[in-house]
Amino acid sequence: SEVLDILIIGGGPIGIACGLAAQKANLSFLIIEKGTLVNSLYNYPSTMTFFSTSEKLEVGGIPFVTTHTKPNRADALEYYRRVALSNHLPLRLFEEVTGFEKQEGVYKITTPKATYLAKQVIVATGFYDISVNLDIPGEDLPKVKHYYQDPHYYTLQKVVVVGSSNSAIDVALETWRKGAEVTLVIRGSEISHRVKYWVRPDIINRIEEGSIKAYFNSNLKAIRQTEVDIETPDGLVTIPNDFVMAMTGYKPNFNFLKSMGIQLSDDGRFIPHYNPDTMETNLPGVYLAGVVCGGMDTHLWFIENSRIHADIIINDIITKNSL
Ligand code: FAD
Repeated sequence: SEVLDILIIGGGPIGIACGLAAQKANLSFLIIEKGTLVNSLYNYPSTMTFFSTSEKLEVGGIPFVTTHTKPNRADALEYYRRVALSNHLPLRLFEEVTGFEKQEGVYKITTPKATYLAKQVIVATGFYDISVNLDIPGEDLPKVKHYYQDPHYYTLQKVVVVGSSNSAIDVALETWRKGAEVTLVIRGSEISHRVKYWVRPDIINRIEEGSIKAYFNSNLKAIRQTEVDIETPDGLVTIPNDFVMAMTGYKPNFNFLKSMGIQLSDDGRFIPHYNPDTMETNLPGVYLAGVVCGGMDTHLWFIENSRIHADIIINDIITKNSL
């Protein structure tokens, strides 16, 4: 069967950026995505607003037109879908890459639906598929959520939100505004400075006025059907509870990267090995692109600073193949 120049794993913003760069260079390629187009964005909260302005979310130099200063989820879905479809990017959606091996000098990539051969592979799989868990008793109860869609659901409910970064603070404020009784459980001593600069004063004021309860320097210890235990500096506190929103972050699929043969750092941060000048991993012809590069440090990379990976990689592929 046909040997592609490039197979791109992941149809997120950066997978699309890589596709556009490959197209510009007249290379043959395919983007394989396990969910819908821009699956991570699709699964963001329906109310989500980006911290980036629209120009910084653009890929392939194609203008992202919106009248919002900060685009929201709906704007972004519209943008990336229009970009992908109007450029006729070859996409295979709802097809998860499950197998990867090198065979006779080319990479063989398998999904439940097909087998593909490619000279080069770009891994742009992001970090939103796997949540960082609390590892405490009761975490497997259905009332514990690591993803949040919409605030209305939590009306009149006693909600514990774990975490103090953007996802946690958005959940706390939005559900409180729809009539939930909200308690934040925060490991550190303050609201993270990574919280969007226009949101941070809002949450601080809600805590100071007592509308939202916050336990700082505290950890959730156990979850039961109708209550939770919180370890606080003043001892163990048990409070009534209906839902736990464990907004404790997400991480790349390290097992998938390891199964491909990509080396991960052994300092507990699991940073995949790559050459920053080319984005090539320890496997020749296998590249990393987008937020997957950060390992556990998922806050280091975002669209704005990782969309350039597309041109870096395509330039490297062109240079190596013309030698
Ligand atoms: P992703 O968008 O995650 O794309 C990876 C894709 O790979 C996914 O669609 C996934 O389904 C697919 N995939 C994974 N494994 C496989 C497999 N085995 N086979 C096939 N497909 C696979 N960044 C910004 O720049 N600005 C922001 O304002 C911003 N806000 C954010 C808000 C939230 C709530 C979150 C979680 C992140 C935010 N980010 C933001 C960072 C975010 O990660 C990036 O916006 C963007 O999603 C990264 O693009 P990506 O293409 O690298 O990864």
